Amino acid sequence: MTDITYHLAEVRARIERALERAGRAADSVTIVAVSKQQPADVVKAAFLAGQCHFGENYVQEALGKMSQLRDVPLIWHYIGRIQSNKARHIAEQFDWVHTVDRLSIATRLHDHRPWHADPLNVFIQVNQTGRPDRAGVLDSELEPLAREMKRLTRLRVRGLMTIPLPGASHDDVTAQFRRLRRTGEALADAGLTAGELSIGMSADFERAIAEGATCVRIGTAIFGQREH
Ligand SMILES: *Cc1c(COP(=O)(O)O)cnc(C)c1O
Repeated sequence: MTDITYHLAEVRARIERALERAGRAADSVTIVAVSKQQPADVVKAAFLAGQCHFGENYVQEALGKMSQLRDVPLIWHYIGRIQSNKARHIAEQFDWVHTVDRLSIATRLHDHRPWHADPLNVFIQVNQTGRPDRAGVLDSELEPLAREMKRLTRLRVRGLMTIPLPGASHDDVTAQFRRLRRTGEALADAGLTAGELSIGMSADFERAIAEGATCVRIGTAIFGQREH
C-alpha cells in the first residue's frame, strides 16, 4: 500500500470510531481531502484509494489540477479566502464553497453559477475568534446574512463553517465547535440552512465529529506535512 492509501484507511477508521462513540450513523460525515500544494498525480492516487471530495485554497492552483484531472469524476470544494475577482471561476468550477462570509460574495457566486449546473453548495464561514482580522462573519451579523442568502436560489446553504485560531487549546476548540453547533441548529430551525457543519481538520477532526461535524477538512493526516 502506498502512504496515501494507508493514511486514508487510518483516517477513515478513526472517523468510524469517532462516529460510533458519538452514536452517529457510519456514513454521516464527508471527508474532504485538502489537496493544496499536492500535485495532480497525488490527487489521482487518493481518488484511486476511494477518495472523491477534494478541498483547495487557491483558485489558480485548483484550476490547473482540474484541467489535468478533467476525466476523473472528482467533487471539488473551495475552502480558501474568496477574492471577488475570482468568484466567477469558483462558481463555475467548484461544487462546494466553505468560506462565504459576506453578501457581496454570495451574490457574485449566485450570479455566476451556470444555469445548467445544480445550485452551488455553500457553507457560511463564522468568525468566532472575536478578532476582526480573521475571516468569517461575526455572530451578530450571521442571521441577517443567512436570511439574505436564502433568497439566492442558485446557492444551497448547507450550514456553517469555522476555523479555530491556530494554537487554541483543546477545550477552547471544543467550546467553539459546540457554540457553532448551537448557532447552526437555531438557523436550521428557522429554515435558513440545512443544518450541516464544516468543522474539524487533521488535529481535531475527532472532537469535531463529537460536536456534530458533517464535513471534515483533512490535509496533513492524509497527504503528510506540506512545505511552506
Ligand atoms: C489547510 C486547510 C485545512 C487542512 O488542514 P490540515 O491541518 O492539514 O488538516 C482545512 N481547512 C482549511 C480551511 C485549510 O486551509
